[in-house]
Amino acid sequence: MSAVLELSGVRKTYRTGTLEVDALRGIDMQVEDGDYVAIMGPSGSGKSTLMHIIGCLDVPTAGTYLLAGEDVSTFDERRLADIRNRRIGFVFQQFNLLTTVSAWRNVELPLIYAGVPRHERRARAIAALERVGLADRVEHKPGELSGGQQQRVAVARALVTEPSLILADEPTGNLDSTSTRDVLDLFAELHGQGRTIVLITHEHDVAAEAAHTLVIRDGELVDDLHRGAMLDALAGGLR
Ligand code: ADP
Ligand code: MG
Repeated sequence: MSAVLELSGVRKTYRTGTLEVDALRGIDMQVEDGDYVAIMGPSGSGKSTLMHIIGCLDVPTAGTYLLAGEDVSTFDERRLADIRNRRIGFVFQQFNLLTTVSAWRNVELPLIYAGVPRHERRARAIAALERVGLADRVEHKPGELSGGQQQRVAVARALVTEPSLILADEPTGNLDSTSTRDVLDLFAELHGQGRTIVLITHEHDVAAEAAHTLVIRDGELVDDLHRGAMLDALAGGLR
């Protein structure tokens, strides 16, 4: 196995006026090809900051980040946008679908940015929708689909470029329990097919679905010694 992503000594400091916040304080982590990793932690622990860096939406203040072997920690905005489009499929809490166009039109969008010819885009978008179990919904608009189905469209859109990594930020945060099950089953299936998934969540049950769980607290990954107690504490917070 090879590492899809590798962070070494990643730090992120936000500066607001004279105030500095150390949101990430030296993150070392690797995700291997085909792994399914959940990152969990309480509010304010640095999950979104870490997700933005892993997703190439922002760069670290210090440290290095290798994505599929490329050191992206020094990339400018244009190169970040390029590697995002080529390497990462995003799934967000708010599905972020265009409401006025059909499911397949939503799924084809990343292919337009990637410069894929028109005739190829429709076939690939429909194939991606088939993979998430929506073959019979390709012409439906988001408003004509359930929450779980809308998130499946978003997952199809994340898959359609064949990215190295699927990065999901609280993907079940807006779903009821049935739709949550639906989307988690889909992730399990994609993992089974060799996809690499990083899922960010504050929900213990959702994190438990992944093959590995990392816990972040105060901008640091919690070591194994304290992980069990931390997981218990997080689970306790939900009761
Ligand atoms: P989480 O997603 O786990 O709730 P965040 O990564 O959003 O945590 O935030 C980590 C810390 O960084 C918090 O103390 C937060 O207030 C601070 N922070 C996040 N984003 C910014 C920003 N853009 N500017 C300044 N401080 C920020
Ligand atoms: Mg957050």
